Order: sequence, then C-alpha cells, then structure tokens
Amino acid sequence: MMENGPAQERIRQLRDELHHHARLYYVLDAPEMSDEAYDSLMRELQDLEDAYPELVMADSPTQRVGAPIAEQSAFAQITHSTRMYSLDNAMDIDELNTWLDRVESALGTLPPCLCERKIDGSSIALTYEHGVLMQAATRGDGIRGEDITANVRTIADVPTKLVAGSLLSTLPHLEVRGEVYLPKDEFEQLNAEAEREGGKVFANPRNAAAGSLRQKDVAVTASRKLATFIYAKPSGPLAPLMNQHDFVEALREAGFATVPDVQLCRTRDEIHAFCTEALAQRFDLPYEIDGVVVKVNDFALQEELGYTAKAPRWAIAYKFPAEEKTTILRGITVQVGRTGVLTPVAEFDPVLVAGSTISRATLHNEDEIERKGVLIGDTIIVRKAGDIIPEVLSALPELRTGDEHAFTMPTTCPSCGVAVERAEGEAILRCENAACPAQRTERLQHWVSRGAADIEGLGRETIARLVETGLVCDISDYYALAEADLAALDLGREKADGTPRMFGETRAAKALAQIEASKTRPLARLLFGFGIRQVGTTTAEALVALFGSIEAMADATPDELAATPRVGDVVARDIHAFFELEQNRALIARLREAGVVLEAAEVDTSRHTLVGVTFVLTGSLTTMTRTQASDALKALGAMVSSNVSKNTSYVVAGEATGTKYDKAVSLGIPILTEAELVTTLETGAVPTTVSAVADAESPHG
Ligand code: AMP
Ligand code: ZN
Repeated sequence: MMENGPAQERIRQLRDELHHHARLYYVLDAPEMSDEAYDSLMRELQDLEDAYPELVMADSPTQRVGAPIAEQSAFAQITHSTRMYSLDNAMDIDELNTWLDRVESALGTLPPCLCERKIDGSSIALTYEHGVLMQAATRGDGIRGEDITANVRTIADVPTKLVAGSLLSTLPHLEVRGEVYLPKDEFEQLNAEAEREGGKVFANPRNAAAGSLRQKDVAVTASRKLATFIYAKPSGPLAPLMNQHDFVEALREAGFATVPDVQLCRTRDEIHAFCTEALAQRFDLPYEIDGVVVKVNDFALQEELGYTAKAPRWAIAYKFPAEEKTTILRGITVQVGRTGVLTPVAEFDPVLVAGSTISRATLHNEDEIERKGVLIGDTIIVRKAGDIIPEVLSALPELRTGDEHAFTMPTTCPSCGVAVERAEGEAILRCENAACPAQRTERLQHWVSRGAADIEGLGRETIARLVETGLVCDISDYYALAEADLAALDLGREKADGTPRMFGETRAAKALAQIEASKTRPLARLLFGFGIRQVGTTTAEALVALFGSIEAMADATPDELAATPRVGDVVARDIHAFFELEQNRALIARLREAGVVLEAAEVDTSRHTLVGVTFVLTGSLTTMTRTQASDALKALGAMVSSNVSKNTSYVVAGEATGTKYDKAVSLGIPILTEAELVTTLETGAVPTTVSAVADAESPHG
C-alpha cells in the first residue's frame, strides 16, 4: 500500500482528471476518453478512497450522483414526477449471480425476469395526456431534467398521439421512459459529413444522440434521424398491467418503438444464455448496446424489492466486459521478430480487459511511441483491439509525477548483438543477421502455432533452448528430433533441489506424437506456417484451392500466382521470391523427405465450382453454424470474407442481421436466404433466381 503522501497526490490528480473529463462528457458532449477508461480511473479513485477514508473530499467525483446540469442550459428545467433512477451495474457474470442470489433470498425463490438489451443512448421521459404527447424531458440528475419537448417531437418514431383504442391511449395521464439513440449508420454518416465540412465530430453514437437531442435549433435535431426505444415507467403500479412483459407489449400496441427480442427467463441458465447471445450479436445490431438489463418481471415483486438511493433493487445492468482499462507502464522491452524486425513491447501492471488479464502489448515502433507520447512510468489506457490483441491507446500526462522517463530504441540487436540500423524512410529497425537466434526461434515458434502445423507441447522457452543447443535450426529439424534428445533437453532452470530441469520423457513422447501428426495437417496451414510475407490464413487457403500443392506454387510465375483471389501483384512477387530462394527450396525438399505431406488432401477441383466467388455471412443460421457454412463454401472453392465490400459476390443473411445486411443493400449486392445457401451447397451453384435487392426493407428489428 502507498504511503499516505503519494496516495494523497494521486487522489488529487485523479479527482482533477475525472472532473475535467466529466465536464467534457456531460456538459459539452465531447468526451476525449472512453467511458471504460473513465470508469477504470473512477474505480482506482474509489479503491484509494476506500483505503484512505480520511482523504475523501466532499467534491470528489465518487460522491456525486448523476450528471452535472449544464452551467448555462438553453432549456427550461422540469422536475420529474418520480425519480428517474439509474441502474446498478454487474461488471461480470459473478456480480450478476450475486444480484440473482440477493433477489432469490429476498423473495424466497428466483422469480421470472425479463431480459432486455441495454441500449447505449440518452434517457428521456415522455408524458402523455389522454394519449397525446405533452412533454419530453432528459434525465438530468434524476430529480430535475431539461424540457426538450420541441426536440423530441421531431423524432420520427415517437408517437405524438398513441394508437387509438390501445390500452395506454385511454389513460388520462401516462409517463413512459426510454432511450434516444442514433443508429450506427446514421452516426457514421453524421461524422463523415462533419469531417467533410469541418463540423463537430462525435466520439460515439451515444454522445451524438445526446448532443443532437439538446439542440437549441430544433431543425438540427430534426435532421439527425434519432430513434427511440421505450421500456420503462415511473415507480409504482400501472393498472391493469401486472408485469414488465405485458407492459412492453402494451407499449408496442400503443405505437412506441420497443427494444427488440426481449425474453422472459425463468432460470439462471436462461439469463446467462441471453447475456452471452447479446454479447455475440452486439456488433451485428444496427444500434449500440453496452449490456443487458435484467428486470424482475412482476410489478408487485418489483415494489416489494424497492429502491436504493440511486437505483431499483429489482433490476441490474449486466455490462459487457470492458475493452479498455487504465494501468501503469512499467517498462518497454524489445523483441526480435521472425523477419528480424525489432519491436518495442509495453510491459504494464496486469489488468483484466475484455475477460482476460493482459500485461504486455506491442508498441510497433519508435514513431508510434512518440506519436502516443508514452513515457515509462505513465498511467496509460490499454484496450483489446478487435477484442483479442492488447493495445496501448495513449498516456494520461495529467497524472505524471515527474519520475517518468522516455524510452530509446537500442542500437544493437538484443538477441545477437549485431548493430541495427533504421533504413531510410522506414519506421522500423531490423536485425539483418540471418543466424540471429531470436529470428530462428520466432520462425520455429510460428511453425508450431495453432493456425500452422499446430504442434502442441513445444513452448517458446523450449524452442529457444532447442535453438541454443543446436538441436533445431530450421523447421525440418523438428522431424529429425530423437525422443531421447528431447527428453534430456536441459531447460536452463533449476528444480527446487538444485538439479537441472529437463524436458522429460512423458512430455517428449507427447510432443513427438504431435510432430508426427503435424505431417498431415491441411496444406493451407503448413503453407501459412512457412511465414511467407503477406500470406495469412485466408491467402494460404486461396493459394491451395487454386494450386493444390507446394510444388505447383513453387513452379508458378508471378502472373500465375496473381490469378489467386485476393492476391495482387505485390503479394504474388513476394510469394515467388520466397520459392525462388535456394535455401527455401532445400528446406521444402527436406520436409518432403521427412514425410511432411505438401499436397492438398483432396484436389478434387471438379468440386470447385465457386472459385472466385466471395461470400459474406451475417445473422445466425438455423440449420448450421456460421463456421460450418463457411467451411462448406470454402470446400467449393469460394472465398468467405467478414466484411461487405464491392468485391462481395453474395451476402448470406440469417436471422437478426445488422449493418452488414444494410451495407449489402446499399451496395446492391445480391442477398441469399438460408434456404438458397443450402441449395448452393447441395448443387454447387447459386440459384439463378437470386439477384440484387435494389431497395428492400431490412428484415431486422
Ligand atoms: P447507466 O447510465 O450506465 O447507469 O445505465 C442506466 C441507464 O441505462 C438507464 O438510466 C437507462 O437510460 C439505460 N437503459 C438502456 N437500455 C435499458 C433497458 N432496456 N432497460 C432499462 N434501462 C436501460
Ligand atoms: Zn539479431
């Protein structure tokens, strides 16, 4: 634990930083930091204040409830009829379970709960009298909000008059609450336009929604194509409705837009499954969601559970795992890659990001470090790019103590000590020593990796030792390894009793079985394992589909190689250059001699009826998984891509499609139903009836 002094200083800095960002966020609708990074700093402050309660100040951001009201609001203030609550958060499944436990013990049994996607927008309250819209307000601090009636009237899906004859239309007084949001594609368009015309670019759809809503000029709001989902009422009864599920139904009947696909769950398993599915669908939906709201369905039970000062006890917001956190950069190490490139790697205090703990991330090169402005010792924001690869986003200079220092790249290779130079006009440093052990280790490591020859049981450390002891120099040496040699490999560490740690017989036997099995891995995997520049998994698959064997590829001209889907002239030249190199030809000959199969298993090209045809799959399929569909298409020689572009031949649309579908429609790309996909797979040809839908209605929603 920190001395009180440094803690006090850190608390002061965090407080200032959080105040600054809260103002940018709430008042100016222009955050410079993600919610997640903000939450991460807030948690750190909360933890510090918990540890040093004597340092908690009345003005600490941890002490504030709700949003600050704009200093000079253009809108009249209104007081809400009953408090507009926030929701308590469950940051992971454990916390969700804790909440379920609490509900269960309070009520004696777990009641049915309604699960709804949590829309990432801006809350509003709508008041109707005899079915006519009278007033609309923002949440504000929960007690008082702003009167935005004129703005809300411009939102197309907000009924100004409820559907005649519907239950809700007959009530003399009705207040409903929900979320205003900006559909993702509207958000993209809005920002693209702003960029073109030098206007205000929004950080995310939610801020764009909040900003668009609170416009003095109603015409601006009207131009923004905002939309709503209505899902709540003030606390208390709403006779004759008895539960949330019926309420949602009544809302829909009255003409409100309601959150799609709500589900009444009776067990924990069903609730968990809903959360998992929502997370999986997240990026395919046309609107942003940041979690799932679980609500006790029965209104009477809701009131029985009651409210805390800030939130109902009968509901919880399960938040998707945060993809961004803050942490401290402890150092920068330098790695030597497969091709000799020196890469600086950030080493930071371990943090849980998007479900797994990370402690290092590549910083790519010196220029990147400079651009990001990170110093060793800085508080940094880290995230998982594409949900997998850790990345350092930026540093928070306001939180510096003066003890930070800059990093400089070494002038020699950290592995072999040979001098390294930065080539003219290049951002990277490269070790040109072909015998550099680090490069060897990386190439050998790449070969055993999952997407390549997939040899389990040989870790980075073992491979480094195999290189150091000279047992393995290149990938063909794996196939000449003797079990006894591997078993006796000294791992360079000592056991507790001081004797050297060996690889051991059991592990050696297992590893050799894996090496044996790797001889017949799919050819595309082995090709990928060679580590040819620019040849990733997809390109390797395309090459194998066209050429069928390494030999045929090695004998092909650059032009012939460029006939492969997705392979352009530059990549074709790289592939050609790889096979031209005498050492590589010799390596391939050694592999073949060792029994590695370098021909594709089934070169039945008569089945390849879809060569050159590119598919994109979206939504969920009912008769097969997307992976199965993708494999089946590839078996016919087709390409399967994850993004819709003008090169896409067909988009296969399952259920609950999202932005990919919309993009396909806008680009005029033909869309296949699941049934048409099945026909395609059975006959090897796309049905002739399929053609582009010029301006069809999207089936989602
Ligand atoms: P937070 O703003 O993170 O405290 O989350 C609480 C807010 O989530 C509520 O005030 C609502 O504005 C919003 N929200 C979004 N979707 C839902 C939903 N389906 N049910 C209830 N609240 C929701
Ligand atoms: Zn080197």
